[in-house]
Amino acid sequence: MARVVSHAYRPQGDAESRRRETKVLRRGFPLILRNLDRILRTPRFFFCQLQSAYSWTFWFGPSGPIPLGVLDLLWENGEMIYDCAECGGRLHAVGVGGSFSGGSVWGLCADCSYSGKFGCSPGWHEGFLAAARLLPLYKNESIIEYGKRPRFDWKYGLVGETTQDKILVPAVEPVDLPALLAELEAVEAGAVIPDEGAEPVAPRNPAAQPVLTIQKGQGTLSMPLTVNSADESETPADEEGS
Ligand SMILES: [Zn+2]
Repeated sequence: MARVVSHAYRPQGDAESRRRETKVLRRGFPLILRNLDRILRTPRFFFCQLQSAYSWTFWFGPSGPIPLGVLDLLWENGEMIYDCAECGGRLHAVGVGGSFSGGSVWGLCADCSYSGKFGCSPGWHEGFLAAARLLPLYKNESIIEYGKRPRFDWKYGLVGETTQDKILVPAVEPVDLPALLAELEAVEAGAVIPDEGAEPVAPRNPAAQPVLTIQKGQGTLSMPLTVNSADESETPADEEGS
C-alpha cells in the first residue's frame, strides 16, 4: 500500500481576496484570451500569478502555483480545457487538484462566463500531469552561477577563496492581474509593450526533469514525465495497485 505523503499547496491570500480576483478575472477573461500570444512573449505577463491558479495533490509532484504563461501554453495545446459544467462550452481551467479518491478542476468558461469548481474524475489528472510536466521548466527564480567557497582543512582550517555568486538571469518581476488587464487594454487601443519579445518566453530551466514521486512503503517510486504526451509511463494509477 502506498504511503500518502502530502504535497498539498495552500494558495496565497484568503477566500475573500480570491473571490475578488475571480470577479476581476471574469470581466477581463475575454481580453486575456484575445491576447494569449502577447502574454507568451512578454515575461512580465507570462509570470503573472493568479491566486487561484495552482495544482495540488496528496501524493506526488511537481505541483504549486501555475504562472499564467504556463496555463496559456497548456490551453493552446488543448490541455486544462474541460467541458463547462453550466453550458458544455470550453472551460479554461486555472487550477486542478485531487487524490486517490478523486479530484476537481476550477476555471472560467469562455462561452458563458461561468466560473467555478467541479468534481472531475478521472479527467482531473490529465490536467494535473500536463501542468506537472511544464512547472519545473518555468520556475521564476534567478539563475545563479555560484561562486567559490572555502573548504575546511584539518591542518590549515578554512582554505581557498570566497568569490561572489553571479546572477546570470534575474527572476522576472511579474505584473499583477489588474496591471495586466490595464496593459492589455492599452495595447488593444494602440499602445506598444516595450518588453514584448519576438518569441515566446523560453523555459528558464530547460534541463529540469519533471519527475513524479510516489511514496511506497519504505521507498519511493519515481517516474520521469516526458514532455510529449502519449507516453504509457505517465499513468500513475497503474502503480498504486500492489
Ligand atoms: Zn459555460
